[in-house]
Amino acid sequence: METLRQKYHAIAQALADLYGTPVWEQRLSPVDELVDCILSQSTTDTNRDRAFAQLKARFPTWEAVRDAPVEDVIEAIRAAGLSAQKGPRIQEALRHIERERGAITLDFLDALPMAEAKAWLTHIHGVGPKTAAIVLCFAFNRPAFPVDTHVHRVAGRLGLIGPKTSADRAHDELEALVPPETYYAAHLNLIAHGRQVCQARRPLCERCPLTEWCDFYQQTVKPGGGAAGRKGIRNTSRRGNSASRVRAKTTDGQR
Ligand code: SF4
Repeated sequence: METLRQKYHAIAQALADLYGTPVWEQRLSPVDELVDCILSQSTTDTNRDRAFAQLKARFPTWEAVRDAPVEDVIEAIRAAGLSAQKGPRIQEALRHIERERGAITLDFLDALPMAEAKAWLTHIHGVGPKTAAIVLCFAFNRPAFPVDTHVHRVAGRLGLIGPKTSADRAHDELEALVPPETYYAAHLNLIAHGRQVCQARRPLCERCPLTEWCDFYQQTVKPGGGAAGRKGIRNTSRRGNSASRVRAKTTDGQR
């Protein structure tokens, strides 16, 4: 584990050099974050944002969303796609929260131990480890590490998680490996790398600063151009130390 941790620290430093160190800031309230996550499934960030804005514009409160005819909710979120599934799921989640807590709020999660907070969220139908971690990390700045499709792919290629580790299981492995106070920045920087360099279909290894630590590169890609590539990407892609400069949060709808 110590060797893997050393490898992770080297990777984290390289990613920070490249993308900066995102600083946590609350973008949405906890319930908003949960609904936003449900909307983000299998769609783009743009369409998720449009659907979320239309939902908030049409209904003044989450109670109004909960009580609305489901067809109206589906219509409001149509931009997100899969609206016939997401509409009922959103209403079901809101009703679950109200039933369990007597009001539509998730603020109480801040005071629960992490394991209990995760368990509480994943008892909501359709909420898995990724959504729970996003709500806890992004809305509360609590130490949960969200693993989306980019994080899962990049961490797998680098060898930070096991080759057969599922995305759900990767939450536990990365939480054990990454220092908790850096989950937010690590999550965003792995996403940024997955979007910009370690892309799904064709990873741009020739431009990647992580080749020396990357299992996929070392085992699959012929070595030779790494040093030049590292220099090139630093010169052209370096961003500042601001969360706002890294395209934050979601991952092509795979949050
Ligand atoms: S070396 Fe290639 S596979 Fe490895 S992290 Fe970089 S882009 Fe991805």
